Amino acid sequence: MNKKIVILPGDGIGKEVTTEGKSVLIKIAEIFGHEFEFDEAIIGHDAIEATGNPLPDETLTKLKNCDAILFGAVGHPKYDNDPTLKVRPEQGLLKMRKELGLYANLRPIKLFDELLEASSIKPEILKGSDILFFRELTGDVYFGEKGRRDDGNTAYDLMIYQRYEVERIAHKAFQAARTRNKKVTSVDKANVLESSRLWRETVQEVGKQYPDVQLEHLFVDSAAMKLIQNPRSFDVVVTGNLFGDILTDEASQIAGSMGMLASASVGDKVGLYEPIHGSAHDITGKGIANPLASILSAALLLDISFGMKQESELVIKAVEETLKQGYRTTDIADAKTTREKILNTQNMGAQVVSQLAKIASQLSVSANN
Ligand code: NAD
Repeated sequence: MNKKIVILPGDGIGKEVTTEGKSVLIKIAEIFGHEFEFDEAIIGHDAIEATGNPLPDETLTKLKNCDAILFGAVGHPKYDNDPTLKVRPEQGLLKMRKELGLYANLRPIKLFDELLEASSIKPEILKGSDILFFRELTGDVYFGEKGRRDDGNTAYDLMIYQRYEVERIAHKAFQAARTRNKKVTSVDKANVLESSRLWRETVQEVGKQYPDVQLEHLFVDSAAMKLIQNPRSFDVVVTGNLFGDILTDEASQIAGSMGMLASASVGDKVGLYEPIHGSAHDITGKGIANPLASILSAALLLDISFGMKQESELVIKAVEETLKQGYRTTDIADAKTTREKILNTQNMGAQVVSQLAKIASQLSVSANN
């Protein structure tokens, strides 16, 4: 199969981890006889430095004309510490989501058994957790009217949702639940917010078309608590942009580290795949970033955008096998054991690639398959 993939490294550790995600895609193409054509583009701080624009037109054109995008992260301390700067890296990210019509962000939260001890949550609470988040991406406070009143001392960000925005992501969540444990938890703050009341009303309406799927509603504060108290009680979670942003970071602790969680942003056109973590300036350039979230994002890309289930499962198996053999980056290391072998970013990527080749030869997967 011939496919065109744009690598969008972005800033900070984005560059380090996408290099490893790309090498996994190259290996998969080699094993299965696919032709993946790669291109690269700039976004975020690097793009501002080069062009003054966090999402240059040239980047957008490349993104609109490819089959899938593997993205790293954007962000730079310069902007984090100076809220007065008008041109900011995240604007590139928000504009990209809007321009590409990426309205649903899927975040699978699944704990590899080998990492049970790496989480700060007790293993007996975590074991068996498997949650699929659907975070809405194009509405909410991120895109509502924002500004400051004349006195400069009052600021506002409008939380806004339209019915069609809730409908389309609710359908995606119910459809996904049908292929899993048939339960959708919709998270809102309908006791206080009008936009949440529209959200709840709409999800209930959509839910009537999926009578085989159980629907529950939780307020975001209660959902935040239950996620840690009893993560196994969740199957598919659907929520708005802001609540989803916060809850999925919280849920990353179920998977052991931010460095383990992949995500897919999908809409009607091209799909974008990225780790849920940011550009992590505290560890940039140290070679210790965990590349597994980017590698697992590549697995999602193969599955969702290219329909390559076997290829995607092979990547996940290779990650699992790498962990089983005790290889860890520092973020997922268990200080209590000496059995683990600590690797840097590049060597962790190389381990996964070598596992891919090994498992493929054991399964006799080949280009003729
Ligand atoms: P972050 O996700 O970058 O980092 C949070 C913590 O997790 C840090 O201690 C970091 O070292 C650690 N971490 C993250 N990814 C890791 C990995 N792969 N391996 C090992 N450890 C990892 O979040 P932050 O510190 O709040 O933000 C840093 C910058 O990233 C900011 O500029 C922010 O705006 C940006 N950001 C971008 C995105 C994105 O591009 N999608 C998302 C979140 C934050």
